[in-house]
Amino acid sequence: MSDSIDIGAFRVWALPDGAADLPTWAMNPDLDGGDPVTWAAYAERAPGGFHGPDHLWRIHNTCFLVESADDRVLVDLGVGVGPYPWYQGLRGSLLARMAEAGFDPDTVTQVFLTHAHPDHVGWAVDEERGAPRFPNARYRLHRTDWHFFSGRGTVPKHFTRFVEPLARAGVLDLLDGEAEILPGMTALETPGHTAGHMSLLLRSRGEGLVIAGDVLNSPMYVTEPERPFGSDADQAQAIATRVRLVERIAAEGWRVAAPHFPAPGWGAVVLEEGRRWWRGG
Ligand SMILES: [Zn+2]
Repeated sequence: MSDSIDIGAFRVWALPDGAADLPTWAMNPDLDGGDPVTWAAYAERAPGGFHGPDHLWRIHNTCFLVESADDRVLVDLGVGVGPYPWYQGLRGSLLARMAEAGFDPDTVTQVFLTHAHPDHVGWAVDEERGAPRFPNARYRLHRTDWHFFSGRGTVPKHFTRFVEPLARAGVLDLLDGEAEILPGMTALETPGHTAGHMSLLLRSRGEGLVIAGDVLNSPMYVTEPERPFGSDADQAQAIATRVRLVERIAAEGWRVAAPHFPAPGWGAVVLEEGRRWWRGG
């Protein structure tokens, strides 16, 4: 099942790569001895993101395809062929979802990678052919994330498999700072989850949508952006980024989407009982 939403002249498609019921709250939002999260309130509002009586995390992993008059931009590339061990052996479904929706991989003109974690770059390269999976696309990644992963003593395996081949094929563009990648489509620097993490802002005809990437990993973080997330590389920086981004989205009245929210992953920020909440749809 694919789903779409119009943001002005852009059409945004949700192309789920799959979901997994994680056995614990891997995000550790109660770090530093904070009060426990009242998950029931979030599960009631966004039931698709939870499972079981303890409201554990059903992690979705949605890729987005943004269509404009001349371009098709894929935002993040899921876990790939798999099996992906951290999502209970998930085998990604992005290509199948694209085929169902009638999108030929050859027609993708850009791939925007919010960051270079393995659950966001899995479909970048066709390892059987030894070539980029989207042959006519430029791939965009922040320069800082390139160095963040490639500069390690031991480069993570997923990076050598799915990102370094893009550079060798000459299709990888490294971004610096805030950048308009297409008219109305702006890469925002949102560091903390990784050093070079980016979000993508779409603006058209007075409407806006931020595809937040892993700045917001649960609807809970729209309400409580100051909570830590266990997998952020730099906790303090990630919290500052999250607080700033949620404030900006609310002030501008933009919609917000995120790959790990319940699919299709987009919604509005609404004010209820004096607090902000994410409301899907
Ligand atoms: Zn992720």
